[in-house]
Amino acid sequence: MKIGFIGLGNMGAPMAANLAKSHAVVGFDTIAAPAGLTLAQSAAEAATDADVVITMLPNGDILRAVAAEIYPAMKAGAIHLDCSTVDVESARAVAAQADAAELQAVDAPVSGGIGGATNGTLTFMAGGPETAFATVKPLFDIMGQKAVHCGPSGNGQAAKICNNMILGVTMIATCEAFVLADKLGLDRQAMFDVVSTSSGYSWSMNAYCPAPGIGPQSPADNDYQPGFAAELMLKDLNLSQMAAEAADADTPMGQAARDLYAQFVENEGGSGKDFSAMLPRFEKRHRT
Ligand code: NAD
Repeated sequence: MKIGFIGLGNMGAPMAANLAKSHAVVGFDTIAAPAGLTLAQSAAEAATDADVVITMLPNGDILRAVAAEIYPAMKAGAIHLDCSTVDVESARAVAAQADAAELQAVDAPVSGGIGGATNGTLTFMAGGPETAFATVKPLFDIMGQKAVHCGPSGNGQAAKICNNMILGVTMIATCEAFVLADKLGLDRQAMFDVVSTSSGYSWSMNAYCPAPGIGPQSPADNDYQPGFAAELMLKDLNLSQMAAEAADADTPMGQAARDLYAQFVENEGGSGKDFSAMLPRFEKRHRT
């Protein structure tokens, strides 16, 4: 397969490198120029003649601009596979434009972070036509360990923001529970041993424990270097609240999590820290 890959940042560069082991990949990025990859001079050039054009970009506005640039250059029937995390509306708008241009669009945001991108163990949650999903499935198999077809265009983004809304809420709940446990004189290891095998368990506690030295290795053991940065969690919580507003869904916990991460990133030194650094944030605070 001939693949164009646009957006060669922290995630895109290792994903493109994995694909380049078995496919012809031409990459483009406005800034990044990772070694070992054939690079084009523009997004349109990377998209010309490609069977599949993959985008891995920061947000929906940039996705829309890149789609407008590449669609006239893509050959009829080619697939635009967007793996960025963007708002559901942008994913659906781009899919409608692809349709009008006789192209196919699949939105397939990922879970698994930079480690998953590097090791080819990402999870993809995809929205778009079944036939297009089947065509790009071998690429998912190279870049990841699992791909779930979630329904029509935009449903991949819907799955991603619902998942990450749960993650933001459970991380905050786990961090505040650790601080309550501290104040009640409960040992952190005992707290982990109980919760991780009781009904309070979650990925935040069991796989990514925010308390240093407890549970499996996590960013807490590395001075909260990301990992998954607090500002990326804030981005995803903003997307879930935008979607909730548009869909008239009541998501008070998602809203509370969004507000706490906004405060943390913007006013409390959370920028550049892992999203599990909510634990030291709570340690510094008092009830009043
Ligand atoms: P990044 O900022 O490292 O990479 C984005 C790249 O896009 C940059 O290299 C930038 O130069 C490039 N770019 C911007 N505008 C462009 C344009 N018009 N044309 C071509 N290139 C352009 O971000 P990242 O961490 O690689 O994340 C990419 C996407 O994946 C985001 O949507 C993010 O939310 C999502 N994501 C990231 C992670 C993570 O752990 N980093 C995990 C899951 C999902």
